Amino acid sequence: MIPFLDLKGINAQYRQELSTAVSRVIDSGWYILGDELEQFEQEFAQYCQTAFCVGVANGLDALILILRAYKEMGVMEEGDEVIVPANTYIASILAISENKLKPILVEPDPETYNLNPAQIEQHITKRTKAILTVHLYGQVTCMDDIKAIAVQYNLKVIEDCAQAHGALYKGGKVGSIGDAAGFSFYPGKILGALGDAGAVTTSDAELATTIRAISNYGSHEKYKNLYKGVNSRLDEMQAALLRVKLSYLDKEIEYRRQVASYYLQRIANPLIKLPKVTAVEAHVWHLFVIRCHERNKLQDYLKSHGVQTVIHYPVPPHKQSAYEELNNFSYPVTEKIHEQVLSLPIGPCINLDDVGKVSDLVNDFFS
Ligand SMILES: *Cc1c(COP(=O)(O)O)cnc(C)c1O
Repeated sequence: MIPFLDLKGINAQYRQELSTAVSRVIDSGWYILGDELEQFEQEFAQYCQTAFCVGVANGLDALILILRAYKEMGVMEEGDEVIVPANTYIASILAISENKLKPILVEPDPETYNLNPAQIEQHITKRTKAILTVHLYGQVTCMDDIKAIAVQYNLKVIEDCAQAHGALYKGGKVGSIGDAAGFSFYPGKILGALGDAGAVTTSDAELATTIRAISNYGSHEKYKNLYKGVNSRLDEMQAALLRVKLSYLDKEIEYRRQVASYYLQRIANPLIKLPKVTAVEAHVWHLFVIRCHERNKLQDYLKSHGVQTVIHYPVPPHKQSAYEELNNFSYPVTEKIHEQVLSLPIGPCINLDDVGKVSDLVNDFFS
């Protein structure tokens, strides 16, 4: 079988170094808010070209805490509106509603699947306070257009970078392009921990300090609580493991690009729509997503030939029971994408022979 993602194989490559990191943490006797986290935060901020990185428990918390901090800072208040793509993983939208802010869903560009800047302005009202953009599947959103709108209407730009660690936009790293960014280090992401983990990057000192306090019971200083905070921290074990993985991130991204370019060259089937790349450095290929009108048949066919694929995502957020209030809204571009997408195997460990085999099978589909 060709697996969708070989997580065991990915981490096995670094077994020695990961084990050393684990031992170092065990022997330190210090497991929360220590040196490993401090080092990782510095290394990741440097990697993302930002002044600050704050480690948190997971990617959803990273986004929740950014918005929560903006509320504490008086930048926004309950009932304010946040623009977000309709075509995203539901976590982007959960972060907004969790803060009692109102998610305003906007259709994506049908080619890149990312937020379509041309669709944003018509949704802006007096209550709009931020644009939360998602670099979906690993490709950077068209940030110049989004930033221009944000400047014009005085909005914050928040990047959901959960799928796009290391992607570049005109020389700038994702995580440094907007005002703040949320990252996930869920094991299957481009930079994955061996458990849950996340981070916020920003160059706004007040925002970083506020998030740091809220994520630690609302406390800047032990036993003094300025906010009704939460406990959302990146522990020493995950920080130590992430430091190892971060040192290989660029190499892994290079390999993902090689796999993607192999698929792009080799797959040629009129029934299949391939992903559109805006610029080589702008895509880190968290997922290789193709489209097909007969998507379910294609998935069954690949499965019967030993190829595991995944659908990202089968049901759009506005059609979920959790968002009953949005169920009657119509987002035709988003709905069509959800009906047609299929993610082929990709990762830092897949061998190119298997990529060739998958491509040939896709080419033979229906022929
Ligand atoms: C994975 C993901 C998240 C959430 O990250 P977790 O670490 O799983 O909480 C948020 N947004 C997007 C786009 C994601 O893919």
